[in-house]
Amino acid sequence: MNELIFVLEDERDIAELISIHLRKAGYRVKEFYKADHFFNCIRTEKPALVVLDLMLPDFDGIEICKELRKSREFNDVGIVILTARAKTEDKILGLEIGADDYITKPFSPRELVARVNAVLRRLKERRREEDILKINDILRIDVKKFEVYVNNKKVELRPSEFKILKLLVERKGWVFSREDILKHISKSEKMVYERTVDVHIKNLRDKLGPAGKLIKNIRGIGYKIEK
Ligand code: CA
Repeated sequence: MNELIFVLEDERDIAELISIHLRKAGYRVKEFYKADHFFNCIRTEKPALVVLDLMLPDFDGIEICKELRKSREFNDVGIVILTARAKTEDKILGLEIGADDYITKPFSPRELVARVNAVLRRLKERRREEDILKINDILRIDVKKFEVYVNNKKVELRPSEFKILKLLVERKGWVFSREDILKHISKSEKMVYERTVDVHIKNLRDKLGPAGKLIKNIRGIGYKIEK
């Protein structure tokens, strides 16, 4: 499915011009001329990026940008600010409040499309990096693909082993009790014992080979991955 872009711009001619060019570039586009309509819609359909005019009749674009960045759900949406204000302070302000890029009117639609492409590429790259967890060069976890590599060699783990390893690696240095770990892996299982964790950990260590020793036993408490 093509990426969805919201264009929030009260000047309809400009909104339309932007939409035409973005659609030509392969994006799905929704136009909004007012902020309230935009806020209603974003709750049901999340865009990959917003082209945001700063001067709107019912809202200041800066505030919209801040709102999006503050929210947990929308802080990863790309924002390209579009405005007639060309002063340097405004640009800096735009980027400080979390916009990914900034274009001043009058602008070339092709340049806008190029900027949008670049922002989306950067965001994808960032997301990709977030999906990879690493301990030094020895251990790498691809969270999305459920894959684990030790010294670049793939290791096959059972789902519960994978969950434990991910839990420990995500919070390096934290100690998890057996009870914590059990709760984490066995939301669906009814009868589980803390010894189960030890068995999983043992198997996990064996499978991880040289990376296995990264998992430390904290006596009387549980397990952690050394920082
Ligand atoms: Ca405007």
